[in-house]
Amino acid sequence: MRNQHQRSMPKRRVYHCCLLLLAAAPLAAQKLPLGANPEGKRLLIIQSHHDDHTWEFGFGGFIARLTRSGYEAWYVRTTNDEKDSGIGWGRGDQINHKESVEATRHLGIKEVISLNWRNDHMDSVPMNEVRAHYILLIRKLRPDVLMTWNPWGHYDRNPDHRKVARAAGEAAWMAGLANVHPEHLAAGLKPHRVPYVYYSQRSDYGRGQVPNIAIELSAEDVRRKEAAFHAHQNVRRGSPKDAMDKASRETGEQHGVRYAEVFYFRDEWSHLPGLAPLLEESVVKR
Ligand SMILES: [Zn+2]
Repeated sequence: MRNQHQRSMPKRRVYHCCLLLLAAAPLAAQKLPLGANPEGKRLLIIQSHHDDHTWEFGFGGFIARLTRSGYEAWYVRTTNDEKDSGIGWGRGDQINHKESVEATRHLGIKEVISLNWRNDHMDSVPMNEVRAHYILLIRKLRPDVLMTWNPWGHYDRNPDHRKVARAAGEAAWMAGLANVHPEHLAAGLKPHRVPYVYYSQRSDYGRGQVPNIAIELSAEDVRRKEAAFHAHQNVRRGSPKDAMDKASRETGEQHGVRYAEVFYFRDEWSHLPGLAPLLEESVVKR
């Protein structure tokens, strides 16, 4: 029995390894088209926690690039991220908020809007209520670009990320429907559908996020992203000094430029006949 087992195992192992290599090869080789800055001047970033906009899975460099080009930007910190530290919940919340303001300043963001729902308790807040807050903010700030977690990135195991992603993804287009929350219209706001949406997600949990566009970053964008990353000392003390430079460089190398971040991009006008090719031409460089 022992000999038989030993003879058969190596064959099976080779077979499975080949399958894995075949599955991984096209992903590693795939070079994404480079994105241009979309037309516009207002950027809204909706996230779960104080630090979700600047880390190795994207956002920070592209935020720096857009504000450098003249965009105004707002950051929504949906929870109080009280558990994201080792210094007690109350102090963790306060310090994380302070560091979030400092990090966003490095990226040229003008304001942090804290909604302050409890960290890890987003599932107890009705989806309609979370979405209503985002719809109100979208109608008030009227962004041309929205960045948030990927609502279809099923493998994110953080419950706050999943809830925020879904509510924000729904709000991006529902904010444009006059019959949705008509009380906002009575208060003087107008419907507004966000034209351009960029999603990202941590990819180390699985393959939920499949990016379709790469955004080239300048050295200055990466420097600002690095500064924003390290501003979150409460959770990132001891991180390598070049953490963001390294992550952006590795992504850039995969897509033929020095530095990059990748996103799942969609435009919210693509349902209109004949407009999609025109829009694609204006936001994708071949
Ligand atoms: Zn987070």
